[in-house]
Amino acid sequence: MRTKIVCTIGPASESEELLRALMRAGMDVARLNMSHGNHEDHGRRLELVRKVAAEEHQLVAVMADLQGPKFRVGDLPVEGLQLVKGALIVLFDPGREKPTVGPDVQLAPMPHPELIAAMRSGNRVLIDDGVLELRVVENPTAAGSVRCAVVAGGQLLARKGVSVPGAKVAVSSLTPKDKIDLNWAVAHGVDAVALSFVRAADDIRELRALINVQCEDASKSPYIVAKIEKPEALKDFDNILKVTDIVMVARGDLGVETSAQEVPFYQKKIIRECVRAGVPVITATQMLQSMIHSPSPTRAEASDVANAVLDGTDAIMLSAESASGEYPLESVQTMQSIATRAEAEGRSGVAATTDWHMVCKQSMSGDDIATAMAVAAVEIAEDVGAKAIVCLTHSGSTARMVARLRPVVPIIALSPNARTCMLTAFMSSVQAIHMQHVTEVQAMFDMSIKSLRDHGYVSEGDRVVIVAGVPIGRGAGTTNLVKVQVV
Ligand code: PGA
Ligand code: MN
Repeated sequence: MRTKIVCTIGPASESEELLRALMRAGMDVARLNMSHGNHEDHGRRLELVRKVAAEEHQLVAVMADLQGPKFRVGDLPVEGLQLVKGALIVLFDPGREKPTVGPDVQLAPMPHPELIAAMRSGNRVLIDDGVLELRVVENPTAAGSVRCAVVAGGQLLARKGVSVPGAKVAVSSLTPKDKIDLNWAVAHGVDAVALSFVRAADDIRELRALINVQCEDASKSPYIVAKIEKPEALKDFDNILKVTDIVMVARGDLGVETSAQEVPFYQKKIIRECVRAGVPVITATQMLQSMIHSPSPTRAEASDVANAVLDGTDAIMLSAESASGEYPLESVQTMQSIATRAEAEGRSGVAATTDWHMVCKQSMSGDDIATAMAVAAVEIAEDVGAKAIVCLTHSGSTARMVARLRPVVPIIALSPNARTCMLTAFMSSVQAIHMQHVTEVQAMFDMSIKSLRDHGYVSEGDRVVIVAGVPIGRGAGTTNLVKVQVV
């Protein structure tokens, strides 16, 4: 299978046996969601993932997902509040004096004064991913409260997420909690950090600067995943793509912040831009939602997973399905089988995938040597029936340039850099082998072929196409060699 699978690890999946089963079923990335659980929980899970992956001789990346400025309803009695359509409710800052209201007006705490201050009459207030909806009927008072009418009622429970599309809230994408979680994640050597509610490229730069302060050795710093879930991020997407390492189409909040019917088209657009730029992209949220409580997917979910693969996504993600659902293993197995089937469509069949090779070739500029080399390598590999395209890569740049062409021939990235190997956990079609560093070119070829044989990727007589930048280790974007080698 080419598509990578990201599994959120939580109470339902943290046992050693289950982690082992998830890895055998196809998990490539373990996601620790900092919105839930504490450092002790995450630390225990991280250690077990590392231990089991080593025992299984598998490359499994760990991604810490920072909560970001997610607004939540404050504390309420366990039974919550029953909101009735048309009724009035006042949201107030619990840090200030509780407002006095009439007998038919409800009160709910909202511990985010900056959000209350940014609300304006007419704004929609979406709670619990839009299950409940309010409309602001008066601008906020100086005392930090705002009056709303219930548009879609139901039970309002404590700590549910709140979103006010269009409100210009003056907060950083990195909250004090995120900074604490980031310190923990970097100190524990996670492979990637995801940033929620990114608004602009500057948010990514700010995160990178914070990581660099803590992580002097750049070869150990985690990759950055930009979660695209706000309209502002869609506007600044071209710039975000230039500074981030990985992208996530965060469909849950994206559907709240924009609207559900727009999500399929944002997904296609984001994936297309990412593949063209060679930036790995994860499609996330509600992919197999019904499998939280059911051992098999709905037909709509099977179509959704298949379509994300056909769109060109590198990775697909499970959230509650694997973290807290009843069928975490079945969810991974289901993803695996749907993705494998979709991949088999290739460039022909009723659902032919985009010919990324042609797309990239057509948009290539004359001085883009790396792309020209990658295009040639893929064409040669397909023409000579090569078993693999072998990318000798330090930064991962050569592998990214080849992988974005989505060749039929599998890609093996050989790298002396363990961090680069972990990037391939997010990349479609690429498997990595961690290899010792060599400077002499012939020795490097010989060693590559030997490790491919040792790993069972090739046997005597097979052809492989080698792509590299020589002299070795000169940095990203120096791909300048394509070679056909008979094993
Ligand atoms: P979340 O992000 O699960 O952290 O909210 C993903 C999404 O919004 O889709
Ligand atoms: Mn989100």
